[in-house]
Amino acid sequence: MRAMAEANLDHDDDKPHEECGLFGIFDYNDAAAHTALGLHALQHRGQESVGIVTYDGAQFHSHRALGLVGDNFSSENVISKLPGRVAMGHVRYATTGATILRNVQPLFAEFKFGGLAIAHNGNLTNAYALRRSLIDRGSIFQSTNDTETIVHLIARSEFGRVVDRITDALTQVEGAYSLVAMTQKKLIGVRDPHGVRPLVIGRLGTAYIITSETCALDIIGAKFIRDVDPGEIVVIDEQGLHSIKPFSKVSRRFCIFEYIYFARPDSVIEGKHVYAVRKSIGRELARESAIAADVIVPVPDSGVPAALGYAQEADLPFELGIIRNHYVGRTFIEPTAQIRNLGVRLKHNANVGALKGKRVILVDDSIVRGTTSTKIVDMVRNAGAREVHMRISSPPTTHSCFYGIDTPERDQLMAANHDVKAMADIIGVDSLAFISIDGLYRAVGEARRNGELPQYCDACFTGEYPIRLADRDGGRSRQLSLLTERD
Ligand code: AMP
Repeated sequence: MRAMAEANLDHDDDKPHEECGLFGIFDYNDAAAHTALGLHALQHRGQESVGIVTYDGAQFHSHRALGLVGDNFSSENVISKLPGRVAMGHVRYATTGATILRNVQPLFAEFKFGGLAIAHNGNLTNAYALRRSLIDRGSIFQSTNDTETIVHLIARSEFGRVVDRITDALTQVEGAYSLVAMTQKKLIGVRDPHGVRPLVIGRLGTAYIITSETCALDIIGAKFIRDVDPGEIVVIDEQGLHSIKPFSKVSRRFCIFEYIYFARPDSVIEGKHVYAVRKSIGRELARESAIAADVIVPVPDSGVPAALGYAQEADLPFELGIIRNHYVGRTFIEPTAQIRNLGVRLKHNANVGALKGKRVILVDDSIVRGTTSTKIVDMVRNAGAREVHMRISSPPTTHSCFYGIDTPERDQLMAANHDVKAMADIIGVDSLAFISIDGLYRAVGEARRNGELPQYCDACFTGEYPIRLADRDGGRSRQLSLLTERD
């Protein structure tokens, strides 16, 4: 067992983080081409791999590949091999480990009831325990991702109808999941009972769409209908859209980091414009941690809306003092140690004209390991800035996420190991401040607690994990090591 696990690991070195984007469309011309466009709009949610599955009334077709949507699905040749009026697809987030094709979603399997394709955004917190018990009962896994656990649970369910089988499977899993699935007759969308990851419904003519974010509706001119509710299963078939809520009701805990960083600023989630929320966080940050300065400079791109809000509130000029090179792809290979040491300069460069002699406030959305900030500050100082202050539009990231955002273990999180003063010294700034957790909630427009419970999942800032971490062992995340686990 041990030898096998190690052998697998040598080949795969895979880390099944599931931070992803989903898109499904039911009953529309050129369903695959529309899915490719939707996934392209969701590319920020995953750059590691992409897959599309279609059904043409007689059979399923699938194409899955490593890399970006545009690199894999822009040719007529590929799209023409994906016929059918029903399609779904998935983009998967880049992680540090090498990836393998058999982990690329959507997963597809033939069941007693026919074919089913499924794609997942989130992370299951009891996948390892379930996987072990399924293997004990004879299941053979083909991938190392937690989503396959759901596939096996669906296959083993005693229920007849596919929606009942999916419900049965999901009552056994714990964690965060937004799912899109399709069968020969249905497109299905599910959000976990806490609603940790987003999922929305849209319409294009008479066709229905289920996707991660509204920006994927905009790109194809589809209309936003509503969010899928936490704990809701939405089933679309020839009769239209049906909804069931089969799970016990629990508190809603949408991931607040989607608003801070992860979602695209032009998306609307749960009635709030992501861009407006980010600006309002910037305004709140300016109120909480004002300091005399000449310019507000965002760390692009994710720091831009918060920096705009900060600049408006502080009544200071907003300047593009750092320029980002948008063509640094995931595939950019850093061939030698010397080149690797150039680090952040591949992606960002100081804009001397906007920085020289100035007292600068840099605004970024988060400090995770502190690598980006340290390099950016060094660059800004070298460009002649007189003072460099840093303001962060999230509270200190002190805890790892086990629900689908790729964060390192705690020992690598700068804020888990240093207080703000020590962080400022390491990063090399004249001052450093983070938005407070209450300030963040004020900016989002809600009080932090509704009775006892926080209104969002803010575990990465507070350590209050809303969903049991069943697979966790000694503080390490099993989401990182399904294959290396020992009996
Ligand atoms: P670090 O250099 O590790 O401190 O990372 C901080 C930078 O990474 C910030 O500029 C963020 O915009 C970005 N960031 C934060 N969280 C994530 C994440 N989960 N995945 C990728 N980038 C992130």
